[in-house]
Amino acid sequence: MSLALAMSMLCTAAHASKDHPVIGFSIDDLRLERWAHDRDYFVAAATKLGAKVYVQSADASEERQVAQLENLIAREVDVLVIVPFNSKVLSNVIAEARRNGIKVVSYDRLILNADVNAYITFDNERVGELQAQGVLNKAPKGNYFLLGGSPTDNNAKIIRQGQMKVLQPAIDSGAIKIVGQQWTPDWDASKALRIVEDALTANANNIQGVVASNDGTAGGAIQALAAQGLAGKVPVSGQDADLAAVKRVIDGTQAMTVYKPIKQLATRAAELSVQLVRDEQPKYDTTLNNGSKNVDTVLLNPILLTQQNVDVVIQDGFYTHEQVYGRGADKP
Ligand code: BGC
Repeated sequence: MSLALAMSMLCTAAHASKDHPVIGFSIDDLRLERWAHDRDYFVAAATKLGAKVYVQSADASEERQVAQLENLIAREVDVLVIVPFNSKVLSNVIAEARRNGIKVVSYDRLILNADVNAYITFDNERVGELQAQGVLNKAPKGNYFLLGGSPTDNNAKIIRQGQMKVLQPAIDSGAIKIVGQQWTPDWDASKALRIVEDALTANANNIQGVVASNDGTAGGAIQALAAQGLAGKVPVSGQDADLAAVKRVIDGTQAMTVYKPIKQLATRAAELSVQLVRDEQPKYDTTLNNGSKNVDTVLLNPILLTQQNVDVVIQDGFYTHEQVYGRGADKP
């Protein structure tokens, strides 16, 4: 028997029992509000299922994420659940995990060109459609700026496809004109602020709509608009229902956000991960091609959130009434 084979048999044998799987949850960037919700719901659901979770944040560094994944492999986890920072650079480390008998779940963002066992996410194309429609409803004519997400995130591209599906007819009819578009490195709000400042300057403030791809970058865009007295006059989209964004939707400076019930995503992901370890067959909705295989995929529905239905986040237990409206505000 080769040394490598003997070692790998040893590693596999050392994995935790199937009753108490060990999960490594590798998150791109826990500094962004959304991912703390994912972590909390995921750990709660996994713990209920008898699993143990090690959580790591790569803080938007691809090197750090690879090192953390290697560390989790060395700790002999049974399954890796990964929110990739860069969708394209994890093929090798995932091959190493799979050689060690570790299952791999791509969480929220699709990992490209890698042998992942499953993918779970919200319908990102639909997210993009909701964003574009939300801005178009408020500004059916005029100059548009497209503020994309991180160029290393596959979701950013899928979201843009969804946005374009809705915008293209309005572009073709001449109702709207795209005067600029840019990706926002790391989905970073302060970079988004600078991008939109530059766009406003380049167009002498003649912009009627900003299709922003999430709430963090929307916040940057709205700050740039506010400096020109345009906040609330130029509709801006978002997604995630970050608390600050929900408040902006209420005060009218953000046209809409997309509420993605993270509890559903995290709970289903925890169940899926445990099922994979136990060699049970999870239920999938579809398959998506990641460049090297058709990946079994769970697709969840995102929800449009506007001034009209903003209380959905309270009814769903995502926030308390007090968090959204402040202490002492009347309950509806
Ligand atoms: C997620 C968004 C999030 C963004 C930045 C995307 O992949 O789908 O919900 O706002 O990453 O973290």
